[in-house]
Amino acid sequence: MLNCKEANRLMSQELDRKLSWSERFGLKLHVSMCDGCSNARKQMGVVHNACKHAFGLDDKTNQ
Ligand SMILES: [Zn+2]
Repeated sequence: MLNCKEANRLMSQELDRKLSWSERFGLKLHVSMCDGCSNARKQMGVVHNACKHAFGLDDKTNQ
C-alpha cells in the first residue's frame, strides 16, 4: 500500500511518463481511499488538461 508521499510522487511522474500497471493500480487504490490525494490528483489533472489544451491551440495557430 502506498503512503501519501509515494502517491504524490507517482502522480507527478504520471504526467511525464507512462506508469506501469502496478504503479497505476497502487495509485488508484490509494487515491480512492485518501481524500487529500484524491483532491491533489483532481487538481493535477486540471492543470494537465489545461496544458494539453494550450498546446492544441498552439498547433492551430501554427497552421
Ligand atoms: Zn494520500
